Amino acid sequence: MIVGTLKPIEEIADSISEFRKVLIIGCGGCVSVCLTGGEKAADGLALDLGHAGLYENGPPEFIVKNFLRQCEPDLMRAYLDIPQDVDAILSLACGAGVQTMVDVVKDKPIIPAINTSFLGALEAPGVWKEKCQGCGHCVLFYTGGICPITRCAKKLMNGPCGGSRNGRCEINPEVDCAWQLIIDRLKALGRLDDYEKILPPKDWSKDRGMGPRSMVFPA
Ligand code: SF4
Ligand code: SF4
Repeated sequence: MIVGTLKPIEEIADSISEFRKVLIIGCGGCVSVCLTGGEKAADGLALDLGHAGLYENGPPEFIVKNFLRQCEPDLMRAYLDIPQDVDAILSLACGAGVQTMVDVVKDKPIIPAINTSFLGALEAPGVWKEKCQGCGHCVLFYTGGICPITRCAKKLMNGPCGGSRNGRCEINPEVDCAWQLIIDRLKALGRLDDYEKILPPKDWSKDRGMGPRSMVFPA
């Protein structure tokens, strides 16, 4: 899922301060799961943004709505009802949702309230960790299901750098050494032979080097 964090309230207030009526739209997709984007978050944001001290000329008027998935343009065209008199829309979606709304709503500024952070998963109650960087060519089969691109600070593809101490990364001792995890996992699976396989140089053209990527279905 996509994980996002709410921008600082002062930054959001600054970005809407020139408008007098603002529609806040929560997104019921990924970012609602990490509690930054859903209906409750949108209501809470409207309350927080109502403080007069955040603005020179007083707060705008707010209308709050929630939309199931802001990254679905057809759904939005069919069901998103935008009052004509709002001056701007504050979106609690990820960057994909915000830009989809930009495509659909041509006549109003769409302002992000969330910093889109990473592709991750829940690790403990209230804690989400990054798991994938969407590199476009997954190597998890060779690495025991643990991503060296996301979880190794140096993105090493063929074994550890040698700096790991007590299973921790030399760059950030707060995190596990990805390669220690990979080796432990391969050992547990009886697949240490995979560790001996040399992966070819990574084809980064499948990553972000060629501009925005697309997927066409059926391929
Ligand atoms: S190898 Fe690439 S696609 Fe697979 S988990 Fe890592 S970043 Fe994601
Ligand atoms: S200590 Fe481990 S995780 Fe950190 S950079 Fe080296 S191999 Fe990667």
